[in-house]
Amino acid sequence: MGQLEAPAYRAKQLAEALYRQWENDLDEVTTLPKTLREMMISRGFQVGLPRIVESFVSIDGTERYLIATNDGQTVETVWMPDGDGGEAGDGSEAGTDLRRATICVSSQIGCAVNCQFCLTAKLGIIRNLTAGEIAGQVVAVLKRHKVEVGKRRINLVFMGMGEPFLNYDEFMAAVRLLVEEIGIPESRMTVSTSGIVPGILRFAEEKVRPKLAISLNAPNDKARTEIMPITKKWDIAHLIQAVRQVPLRPKEKVTFEYVLLGGLNDRQRDADEVGQVLRKANLPLKVNLIVWNPGPGMHYSMSDPHTVHMFQYRIKYNNIPAYVRRPRGRDIYAACGQLKRTTELVQLG
Ligand code: SF4
Repeated sequence: MGQLEAPAYRAKQLAEALYRQWENDLDEVTTLPKTLREMMISRGFQVGLPRIVESFVSIDGTERYLIATNDGQTVETVWMPDGDGGEAGDGSEAGTDLRRATICVSSQIGCAVNCQFCLTAKLGIIRNLTAGEIAGQVVAVLKRHKVEVGKRRINLVFMGMGEPFLNYDEFMAAVRLLVEEIGIPESRMTVSTSGIVPGILRFAEEKVRPKLAISLNAPNDKARTEIMPITKKWDIAHLIQAVRQVPLRPKEKVTFEYVLLGGLNDRQRDADEVGQVLRKANLPLKVNLIVWNPGPGMHYSMSDPHTVHMFQYRIKYNNIPAYVRRPRGRDIYAACGQLKRTTELVQLG
């Protein structure tokens, strides 16, 4: 604890109190001497778990939380008690293990990437979250559900608000905190990027890292630019070239996510083109199909079940594993692309 002239083991004790004992307040951290705690308070240190200020419970058991930050903002985190079928290592075990919960974590407040189908994009970027604020979301949710890490399988997906690779250092510091202090293995974590190539290249150098998911969403650059303007900066070819630099662990696959927008990118010829692009990538990979989730002020439509099925079939026809992610928490704006600190609920018809 350099800034406090306290021995290094005190930092370890503090981390233990916060991340393992889930202490809420510096006063509860009795492993630290009272004089040190008082000194920390007098110097303006703010220690404690982030507070869940609002929660929304879906009919499917998913819970969405608004978590307060110290500067009066809120950030969104989602708890899916039985996962969503898309986060499992290879997808084959999707939906079979009801003890396998998933927490969807935010890395920024708002987002600068401006994907056209995403509600978070409407906020713009407000600010980056710190490593403590990112890891703190996980601790707050684990505490709420009294989860004993090690006894229950927990997956983390960094797919909440924000683009993790535009907050790279804090995001990776959070990953290390979660691995080292909370004990969640990095192999149970997945980070999704919209395709920030310099971030992917840095990620390729990491010794400890989550699995990688790429938000693809279109079969070619022209179509992708329409819905993901970031494609103008880094096109699909450069994106795949960067992904190929990431050394994969045995059996690891890169996930390519594809949000299906009714009539726009969900035709069979789109599926065939996606299949060809990914086959050419020559990578261990799988495709996660996500039926677009509606939100206020959004003009897209949902693909019908037959179209989704045919799309999946055409991808598989190219010898690429493809899974349809089960929508979770759609009624409480907790599903993919719906996180916008919305406080109202969806009217289900
Ligand atoms: S999909 Fe992700 S990267 Fe794109 S705008 Fe939404 S939060 Fe940002």
